[in-house]
Amino acid sequence: MKRYSRRQFITGGALAALGGTLALTGCAPMTPEEAAEKERAEAAKRDANSQGEVTAIGEGMGKHGKFNVEVSMKDGAIDRITVLDSRETPGMGDVAMDKMTKTIIDNQTLDVDTISGATLSSMAFLTAVGSALDTLGEDSNEWKHREPAAWVSDVKLPDECDVVVIGAGGAGFAAAITAANEGKSVVLMDKMGVLGGDTCLSGGEMAVPGNWIQVTQGVEDSPENLISDMLVGGDNKGDPELVAIIANGALDSANWLTYEGGISWKHDLMQFGGHNIKRSIIPITHSGSEMTTKLTNRVNEIDNIVLVDNTKAVELIQGADGAITGVKAQNAVTGEEATVNCKAVVLATGGFGSNIDMRVKYNPDMDDKILSTDSVAATGDGIVMAEAIGADTIDMEYIQTYPVCDPETGALLYVGDVRLENYGILVNKEGDRFVQELDRRDVISNGIKAQTDGVGFLLFNQKAADATGLVKQHADEYENSESRGVIVKADTLEEVAKAQGVDPTELQATVDKWNQYCAEGKDPDFGYSAEMNTIEDGPYYLMACKPAVHYTMGGLHITPEAEVLTVDETVIPGLYAAGEVAGHKMGTNRLGSCSMTDIYTFGRIAGKNAADYAA
Ligand code: ADP
Repeated sequence: MKRYSRRQFITGGALAALGGTLALTGCAPMTPEEAAEKERAEAAKRDANSQGEVTAIGEGMGKHGKFNVEVSMKDGAIDRITVLDSRETPGMGDVAMDKMTKTIIDNQTLDVDTISGATLSSMAFLTAVGSALDTLGEDSNEWKHREPAAWVSDVKLPDECDVVVIGAGGAGFAAAITAANEGKSVVLMDKMGVLGGDTCLSGGEMAVPGNWIQVTQGVEDSPENLISDMLVGGDNKGDPELVAIIANGALDSANWLTYEGGISWKHDLMQFGGHNIKRSIIPITHSGSEMTTKLTNRVNEIDNIVLVDNTKAVELIQGADGAITGVKAQNAVTGEEATVNCKAVVLATGGFGSNIDMRVKYNPDMDDKILSTDSVAATGDGIVMAEAIGADTIDMEYIQTYPVCDPETGALLYVGDVRLENYGILVNKEGDRFVQELDRRDVISNGIKAQTDGVGFLLFNQKAADATGLVKQHADEYENSESRGVIVKADTLEEVAKAQGVDPTELQATVDKWNQYCAEGKDPDFGYSAEMNTIEDGPYYLMACKPAVHYTMGGLHITPEAEVLTVDETVIPGLYAAGEVAGHKMGTNRLGSCSMTDIYTFGRIAGKNAADYAA
């Protein structure tokens, strides 16, 4: 018996209705018998066109909400899978689903490995395909017990090249493209099945003094201003020389992203805590994936870069003189080991926020009770590999938590960025404010930890949601957190307070006081540091939040040329490090949006110097 998808069925019905309408309106007079005959002929034509293909739609719940896939089968085999409406992270979720589609179709099995770095999207995709198969009358359970298969890249890891860049996040892309543009042959390897690291997961905002938007708005700023903010924000523990390189290189790096990477920007700026001025530019999609997807495309256009995923660097190889001669790597899917011989290596492996043992080793407070916003890949591999050949580490105890994160998953709550656009107040269970909402991340995090149940609540209203557009822009995150009660919305303050277990009477008093301070233009309680916005009319939103590990300020000890130093402060010849893997730039505390400035500036320096060294 022929199995029809709902879509084909509906199409057939619609055509029959159309035939009937035509018969009634008299455009092409037809008796009901003639209309039925015509529909039979149309259906036969459609069947002939689809050559026996049947389709069905299945649903999955991804990291960013529900999505549908359409599965087409012909002669008992899946011949097409189309993702219809996914909001999964660009460059991660979509890439994973592409790879899995190919694996499923090539192997005709649903026993397919998930793609590392996009596990939730992969699992939702498998669920959706399975449910479509069931609709088609197949047994998805049987498909799940067929021969296992996994996606393996057909890109071969070269035996040698000039420069190996380890880690395809922002710093790695910048280093690889720069070294390749210097004429060197480059291998860019990443251990995950999807690229982009924490850069892809971030908001992508970048602190750039003197940027074009500031110029248009007549805002006076300078690299010296940023240097001062970064040093003060990190309790003057950062290396002033490294900080100056970041601040002075900011505008060049932003221009490089625009012209080399094709990145587009919003016509707006953000002001993060600890910055004395609005200076952070924002990618057009308000996501680091704008950068990593476009930089991946750029890398794929450059002939002298070989980009390989699922390839984990496990060891740095040195010659008798101590200079780097290669990298040993392991295929994360097949386990196969191989060595790439090279003249220089750039470590761009990111931080260690997801490595609990390593966190606790350097800072016992950062134990498994604290969740993390980071990618599962942020395990400090570059630090471990470099230490094994004598590299020095610095500032390892300085680990940053981000204050406004999902209390259940640790994910950074981007809807909570209303705070950074000068809307909303933070309260505790008792309904009282306890911190200046634009204070440093560490100050707010510690403030939240000290409250009842270690939880804070961000209160804002519809006016803030409309003015910032953040609830709409992050509708996927909103739906997800709303479904779990992490954020609640209601017409009255009393309702949101009760839903979150916050004292309603005290919350009302706090809001009244806040509105009065706004009218007076001064916050005597905590010294709110920017333009103050009242919270007058509903609907209101109340979002629960807890701090989660976000960034590791410590890492490899580098020179201003991005060379990696040994414990006795000599350079390891041919070894460079850039991005979060390198320490001593942010002191005790990184200010928001300075990481992007760092990774693209030092990534390009490391790429250029590695290329020069490999000459
Ligand atoms: P940064 O912001 O410093 O550029 P990211 O976190 O964005 O750092 O990117 C780091 C990248 O390095 C991630 O994509 C991660 O998968 C990759 N990586 C980490 N360890 C290894 C390793 N041992 N081999 C290859 N890639 C690695």
